[in-house]
Amino acid sequence: MTASWVEVAAGSDFPLDNLPYGVFDSGKGHRIGVAIGDHVLDLYEVADRGLLPHGAALQDVDLNGFLALGRSAWHETRGRITELLAEGSTKIQDAGMDALHFRSEVELHLPFSPGDYVDFYSSVEHATNLGRMFRPDAEPLLPNWRHLPVGYHGRASTVVVSGTDIRRPHGQTKPTDGPPVEGPTKALDIELEVGFVTGPGNALGVPIHADDAGDHIFGMVLVNDWSARDIQRWEYVPLGPFLGKSFATTVSPWVVPLEALVPYMVPGPTQDPKPLPYLRTEGDWGVDIQLEVGLASASMDTPDVISRTSFDGMYWTMAQQLAHATFNGTRIRPGDLYASGTVSGSEPGTYGSLIELTWGGRDSIDLSDGSQRTYLEDGDTVTLRGWCQHEGLPRIGFGECVGTIVP
Ligand code: MN
Repeated sequence: MTASWVEVAAGSDFPLDNLPYGVFDSGKGHRIGVAIGDHVLDLYEVADRGLLPHGAALQDVDLNGFLALGRSAWHETRGRITELLAEGSTKIQDAGMDALHFRSEVELHLPFSPGDYVDFYSSVEHATNLGRMFRPDAEPLLPNWRHLPVGYHGRASTVVVSGTDIRRPHGQTKPTDGPPVEGPTKALDIELEVGFVTGPGNALGVPIHADDAGDHIFGMVLVNDWSARDIQRWEYVPLGPFLGKSFATTVSPWVVPLEALVPYMVPGPTQDPKPLPYLRTEGDWGVDIQLEVGLASASMDTPDVISRTSFDGMYWTMAQQLAHATFNGTRIRPGDLYASGTVSGSEPGTYGSLIELTWGGRDSIDLSDGSQRTYLEDGDTVTLRGWCQHEGLPRIGFGECVGTIVP
């Protein structure tokens, strides 16, 4: 653990060992920055003084150009920023630039522009719970689930940054005892997920091997895959999620580099049956991330924590997801988003969606303002948090992924 000359409070998500990338606006337009303590370092300014490699990509309005440069450029840039911010370095002060802003004083924007967004379904607990509720008479886990990381193509145009209001979607639903109706969803839900953001990508027709995934995964963000369960339940057969999901997907504003997460990478779960050769990987591809979901009504100042869980038990890993997604030769481009699927543990308080936490709306959640919830109401704010923390290692946090429901 190296200290920075920028103050980093104990327990901060953003010590020198993290240095996540984001896009902010301090009044000079969209710029790339890294978070450090309570500040953001303006990489446009630093690059302007010739202090960074790959300056042109770092002076762009989003991360896509930088993501396209690949792993050695990411490593070199991270090393240089670490040097500049490490205790003892005075290069930034010596250049006399106005490169540090309080994060609370800048506007944060979507850090990357996803051309494609894919959502997986990789938690065995979540897939089992949903199977029990959606298909009560069948085996909860469908026959393909342990053989491939099930996923679907989501909607990239509605990926929004944390803090963006979420408009309650309208849709078509089917009451149990009558014909279909249209109107606002009555079952607005969250999905607690973690996503990865891609780097250079591949040529059309050339799959990415699972062992090369590290060259193509730049970093990770928190994802809230908002879901309208009543719309989803009626529309999803036989082709999968559509309008019940495509109205909004929120990501946290800081992309945590995979390089910062290496100390927290752990072996993936034992897989039975053994996956096919193209899904076999070397090395540790699990990530030990602690996750929690906060929910506040419009009258509450601080959210109640309604779920706590961990990412390290996910059945399918990022490397396997990427290998599977490209096995048919499809193209991955810089800045694509691949979300894990809802992260649920095995106990009721560890589920990553309201449909599981309330078991399909059967059991309500008591909030500290005295109200109850099954699904979200207008004015509710959901806050996802994630962090890695082990004794003797620096805390690597993801910050917050927040959204408020509006009518
Ligand atoms: Mn999802």
